Amino acid sequence: MTVTSQSTTATRISSFMLMVILVTLALSLVALIFGVSVLDQNSEAAWVLVLVGFLGVATSTYVLFQTRRRLSKLKIVVPPVITTIECKKCGVKDVREFQRGDYMFKELGPCQKCNDKMMITAIYREVKDKEKAKVPV
Ligand SMILES: [Zn+2]
Repeated sequence: MTVTSQSTTATRISSFMLMVILVTLALSLVALIFGVSVLDQNSEAAWVLVLVGFLGVATSTYVLFQTRRRLSKLKIVVPPVITTIECKKCGVKDVREFQRGDYMFKELGPCQKCNDKMMITAIYREVKDKEKAKVPV
């Protein structure tokens, strides 16, 4: 289960990142609001607060969107789990995407060729990069 553990680590890191970004966003918002509220006193500090707050909000929003986009990309990249169905009698093979409830040696509908019962003979994750290795689930 190398693929799954890797994606779990990635999710943990990005949820920590998300927290940092959200805290930055909140602090920047506070600085921005506070800066705007004291702006009529025309002090330089108020302008600095507004500037820092605005930059903080802009940056954290940008990073937030970037992280979310990367996360959704990660989800698509996860290789599909393939189920191989085989007829023990005549050897007809069928390959389809894994469906809920699939398990090894599960008996399925009749074979198209000989009408005998078909059986799931393999369930694996299809890895497209590297050496097309069949990783057992
Ligand atoms: Zn058959």
